[in-house]
Parts: sequence; structure tokens; C-alpha cells
Amino acid sequence: MSRKKTLRGRLVSYSAWLIAVVIAVFGVQVGLLAFPQVLLSKTAEAGSVVVYYRGDPDPAVQQLVDATDHRLQIGGFGNPESPERLFFFRDPGLYSLFTRLARLPSTPQGFGISFLGTTYVSGPQVEALRTEAMGERTGHIPKYSVWEGSIPHTMAHEIAHLYMVDSIGRSTWVSLPRWKQEGFPEYVANIGLIRGDSGASLLRRVETFLDEGQWSSPRSWDRIHYEAGLLMEFLLDVRGLTLGTIVADSITRENTYTAMMEWSGRQ
Ligand SMILES: [Zn+2]
Repeated sequence: MSRKKTLRGRLVSYSAWLIAVVIAVFGVQVGLLAFPQVLLSKTAEAGSVVVYYRGDPDPAVQQLVDATDHRLQIGGFGNPESPERLFFFRDPGLYSLFTRLARLPSTPQGFGISFLGTTYVSGPQVEALRTEAMGERTGHIPKYSVWEGSIPHTMAHEIAHLYMVDSIGRSTWVSLPRWKQEGFPEYVANIGLIRGDSGASLLRRVETFLDEGQWSSPRSWDRIHYEAGLLMEFLLDVRGLTLGTIVADSITRENTYTAMMEWSGRQ
């Protein structure tokens, strides 16, 4: 055997090893994202939701899960026949590992991976972003809402993303503008509570949205979500459209916003 051939043989062998290592690392990443219960083995169940978390059994987690299921079911969305899986993190370090595995560019309160049918929510991150929203400008009080910015709100929102993908299909969902992608989960997460609160009419919440003193900045993340939720509620409940028709390109943020403002007497 020539020296050249031996080198080539070694290169082939190293390449094979490299490919095997890459496949193994990728497999571990996908495996952890698909089955985080390896690390989060405690469960709390309530009807339409099964939540996995790490640590000792905690009645406080069960309360959060009950509140999430309540939001989904009174809104008419939760399905106890096929509960959704949600992974709840109370440790920022472990959550950050999962956001890196999912290759997210930032650290949101929660996220989902539709093709795995999984959702992930961080308790500390929900609290951190809520504190950020309660800044100097709002007098450290989230004046705009009593039901938003909580862990059950975020849990219901993330699960609603899965409902949306199931309903309209992944390829349609991916092509939607962000206000539609986020507006429907906001609608699902809040609509049941809104209907049960006589002081929470859509007109009143449009006024709240327009009052800049209620928000930490004019384009803060929570105000953008709030607006998307209002627009979706206007299309579904005032205009009587369905999710299947709202996905059409002809329904834009601009024409929906203008129509909602006209309807509310603000324009
Ligand atoms: Zn979202």
C-alpha cells in the first residue's frame, strides 16, 4: 500500500468520524428539544395542557397550569381529547440552553417548535419582561391590562401557536406577517377572560392602546402584541371573519387598523 493511499484512507476515515460526530450532536439537539422530559420530569396536568417541569412537585406550578387550561377552555379552544405538551422552565440557565438548541436570536418569554408539537416557557423571563414593561413611564404599574404579562397568559399564547399551525397548515403559517402570527395567539389566550369582564370592551381597549402613557415605549413588545390581539379580535368578532379567511394577503395590518379606528370612532 502506497503512502498516498494510506493518507487518503486516513482522510476518509477522519471524514466518516466527523460526519458521525455531527450527526450525533444534531441527534442530541433534536432529541432534547423533542423530549425535554429527560431533564424536566415532573408533570402537572389540567384538561387541555400537560406541563413538564424540573424540581420537587410544586402546587404553585399546578395553579399556573389550571389557570392556563381555564383560559383556553373558556375561550372555546382547549381540547382535553388531545392535550398539548408544554415545558416550563424555572431555571434561566436551562432555558437558555434550550433557546440555543433552537437557535433563537434572542431570549423570548416562550417559544414553540411546531413540527415537534412542543412549547417552552420561562417563568423568570416572563417576570423579567413584565418588570421591563412596568417602567418609569407607566409609573411601575402595568395599567393596560389585568390579564396580560402573566405566566398563564404566556403559556396559553404559546399553545395557541400550535392550534394555529394545526388549523391553517405550517406552510401558510410561515408565510404570514408577524401581526397575524402573534395576533391569533393573543386572541386565544385572552378572549375567554375578556368576555367575562364587563369592563373590557374592545372599544375601551382601543382607547387603552392609543394612550401612550400606558406603555413603556410607543413600540414596546407588549404594545405590539396588544395591537395584534385587538386587530385579530376586530376581524374575528366584529367583522365575523374566520381564521381561514384572515390569512388572505388582501387583509393587511394597515387596512384592518384603519377599519378598526373608523369603527371605534377614532378616525
Ligand atoms: Zn407568539
